Order: sequence, then structure tokens, then C-alpha cells
Amino acid sequence: MPSLRLANLIDGRLQAPRQDRWLDVFEPASGEVFAHCPDSSADDVEAAVAAAHAAAPAWAATPSEQRARLLQRLADLVEARLDAFAALESRDSGKPLSLARSLDIPRAVSNLRYFAAAIVPWSSESHAMELGAINYTLRQPLGVVGCISPWNLPLYLFTWKIAPALAAGNAVVAKPSEITPCTAALLGELSIEAGFPPGVLNIVQGRGPSVGQALVEHAQVKAISFTGSTRTGAQIAAAAAPRFKKLSLELGGKNPAIVFADADLSEANLDTIVRSGFANQGEICLCGSRLLVQRSIYDDFRARYLARVRALRVGDPRDASSDLGALVSREHFEKVMGCIEQARAEGGQVLCGGESLALPGPLAGGWYVAPTVVEGLAPEAATNQHEIFGPVVSLIPFDDEDEALAIANGTGYGLAASLWTADLSRAHRFGARLDVGIVWINCWLLRDLRTPFGGTRQSGVGREGGVEALRFFTEPKNICIRY
Ligand code: NDP
Repeated sequence: MPSLRLANLIDGRLQAPRQDRWLDVFEPASGEVFAHCPDSSADDVEAAVAAAHAAAPAWAATPSEQRARLLQRLADLVEARLDAFAALESRDSGKPLSLARSLDIPRAVSNLRYFAAAIVPWSSESHAMELGAINYTLRQPLGVVGCISPWNLPLYLFTWKIAPALAAGNAVVAKPSEITPCTAALLGELSIEAGFPPGVLNIVQGRGPSVGQALVEHAQVKAISFTGSTRTGAQIAAAAAPRFKKLSLELGGKNPAIVFADADLSEANLDTIVRSGFANQGEICLCGSRLLVQRSIYDDFRARYLARVRALRVGDPRDASSDLGALVSREHFEKVMGCIEQARAEGGQVLCGGESLALPGPLAGGWYVAPTVVEGLAPEAATNQHEIFGPVVSLIPFDDEDEALAIANGTGYGLAASLWTADLSRAHRFGARLDVGIVWINCWLLRDLRTPFGGTRQSGVGREGGVEALRFFTEPKNICIRY
């Protein structure tokens, strides 16, 4: 089968990269190249920013109902091709097709629809002063904004950024991860069909240090919304600082799942706890990679938990019975395997998994790792401090609430936590003391798009979601008028 050749979307046209350089795109399930994506340069970014700059004033002046209609039309087009999008996402990232079909693509559709609906009634505040004056706030689009997204939830996170940016009246230059560029490219094609004016949405494919950096450094790009690693987030913050750009940074995590002895450990809840560690091969920033369990139930819990983890099936992402697919790239696979070695070297006992898996036939070259559980490591061990972003969970016992809290808050990250307890007072008390942006109590990954989303400390700066995203993509201006 001939390989796919992706294009950039610049000024409403699909374009090859100006320097005619291309990158291989791999299918993680087999390790084979199946597509080529533009290895764009600063010249392509320049052209995209120029197109966005030219389109921005008319787009800002377009009534919000009309912007919303176009976003809804794009959502319709994606929804009508749900199967094609899901197949492409699974092929590009190695994630189970069932997950792409049930989570990634429906959520991308919801992102477009949610912000289309949210922008129309959005209003700003006004304050009457007793002196006989009124203050009102205009929230104006920023102009050209940059959106940079990672590989783990490609279309889901891509649309999570471009939808509020476009809804709020900005022209966008977006860069998907070069590792998983396919679904964003397809969305770009559909945006032409949906009828977006040329230059309003531009997609420049390519590598972070070239395309991403050129976008961050461009004087006409007023804001950067970035999701990715803490290391890249720090580089972006340093590059953006002298240019005084608005920044939203959604970064890594080392999330705790905390199980108290009084928790309802029904089969369904146990399944959720297992899923919270291993969904999408552990390649979700919200996965709980540290599983804290109260010592009085530790042995029983461990036995039940391990039985479930051992039953997880790693296999062909297209196979509906596969719980986990392949890791996204050879580089990431090697990193995760290195982390497992490090856990052993630090004295951790590998209770299950701990090895790579070779699948038969055409999938022999794929990057598969068995779901891995380790125990016996101090909370300060590197394995319990650094993000692995793979199917590796570390079990840590604790005695009481204070100890659990110290361990939970005891990393540099502060993205999310899940808490399992039947004690309502404890749930509120403990939730308030966790130094993270998102707390789930007796659940995991329930997402309401109206709620603020983001992390503290090395997990990021700013919040996405609901009005937070619309605020980020607009500049407030206060006007005071005396009467
Ligand atoms: P990276 O930081 O490597 O890359 C993220 C994006 O930034 C990619 O598009 C990348 O391009 C680009 N990029 C890389 N270098 C630069 C640069 N110097 N300037 C501008 N852009 C650049 O992250 P990953 O793609 O590896 O994603 C995994 C990480 O994302 C994990 O740490 C995970 O926790 C985090 N994440 C956080 C979430 C959150 O909401 N907090 C949600 C999902 C993931 P390219 O890939 O082409 O190099």
C-alpha cells in the first residue's frame, strides 16, 4: 500500500513544506513506516503566521454565531468519519482502536461542539460605581495564537486547544506532534470543507525544535497554548518570557491514587483503579502511576489488584480484546524499559510485567510492554519521583492520612490525584490538602468540559476548560464611563 503523504494547511490550502523535507511516520503496532509528514521549517511558520495575521481581523469581527456554526460543521464532518478517524489515530499512536473510537474521537467532537456552544452566550462583567460611573470589560481576541500539542491523545488535545481559540475569534497556527500528525492533518482538510475562511486555521507539521520553536519565538504570535513534557514547557517559558507572551502550559504528572482501608473496593471500583494506571498504555498525563494503599488492607488489595493487572491483554491495537496496544515510538519504548531497569536497580521488586513483549507475524517489530507493577521503593526513589508515562505502577503502603498526604504531595508535580474512601469528611479534608489541579474522589477521568483543567508546580501554569480557556484566548479591557 503506498504510504500516506500529509500536507500543511496554510492560508486555506494544503501545501507541501517549502523545503520539500519529509519525516517518516511509524505505526507503533508494527514498527513500520506508513506515512510521511512535512518536516517544515521556519519559512512555513512564517507563511502560516502571515496568513493568520491577515485573516485575524475579519475573523474577530465575525459574529460568534457564525464562528460557532463553522465549528459545529467541522464537528459534524469529524463525527461522520468517526471510524476513519479512529482507525487513523490507532494506527498512528498504537492505542487500542476501541479507545480511539470510544474516547479520543468522540471527545474531539465534543471539544468542537462545547466551545461552539459556549461562545455564543459568553458575556463579560460590568460594575456600577456609586460615583456615577460604569465599568465594563471587553474581552477581545488576541489575534494570532499558537497551539502546540503532544502525541498521547493527538486529536483530543489538538481540538481542546484550537476549539476555544477559534471560538473566541483568534486566528490559529497549530503544531501537532510530529510523532502522531495524521488526524490533525485530516481535520485540516475537513476545515476547508466546513468553510473556514483561509488563514483562520493553519496547521504546520514538523519537529518541536524547528516548527514549535519558530512559533514560540514569532513576534506576531500573541499566546502559546502548550501541552507536553515539563522539560519542553520550561524551554517554551524561557523563550516566551522576553517576548511577554501569554502562556498556558499543561505539563507532566506523577499522580497518586490513594486507597484508604474504608474504600468501597467493589469489582467495578477495582477495575477503575487498574484502568487509572494502564489506560492508553499509561500514556495519559492523568494516569495514576503511584498507587498508595493503606497498610491494613495492603496485602489483600495487592493480591486482587495484581490478579487484574495480570489479566490485562496486550495485543494488536485493532483487536477489540486488546486492553493495551503498543507504545508510541521506539524512543519512548526504550525510555520506559530503562525506567523499569532503574526500578530494579533501585531495589524495587517487579511483581508483574517488567518485560517487553514480542507479538507474532507482522507485529513482531512493534513496541509492546507488559503492564508492570513494582513495590518496595521509598517515596523518594527516582521511580516514584519521575514521570515514566508508560504502563508502570508503583505500589506504596502508608499508615495514616498525614503520611499519605506527605507522599502524595511529595514530588515536584501537581497535576491530578484520585482518592478512594467511604469517609465523606476525609474526602473533603484530604481533597482540599492535595497540592494538585484536579482531584477525583471514588472515580477517575470523569471530565466535565466546563471545569478548570490543569496542574500546579511542574505540572503547569494556567488552566484550560470552560471559561478558563475562553479567558486565556482573550484580552480583557476595562472601560470606565462617567455619566
Ligand atoms: P513534548 O514536550 O516532547 O512535545 C509536546 C509538543 O511540543 C510536541 O508537538 C513537540 O513537537 C513540541 N515541542 C518539542 N520541543 C519544542 C520546542 N523547543 N518548542 C516548541 N515546541 C516543542 O511532549 P510529548 O509529545 O512527549 O508528550 C508527552 C508529555 O505530555 C508527557 O510529559 C505528558 O505528561 C504531557 N501531557 C500533559 C498533559 C496535561 O494536560 N497536563 C496532557 C497530555 C500529555 P515534536 O513531537 O514534533 O517534537
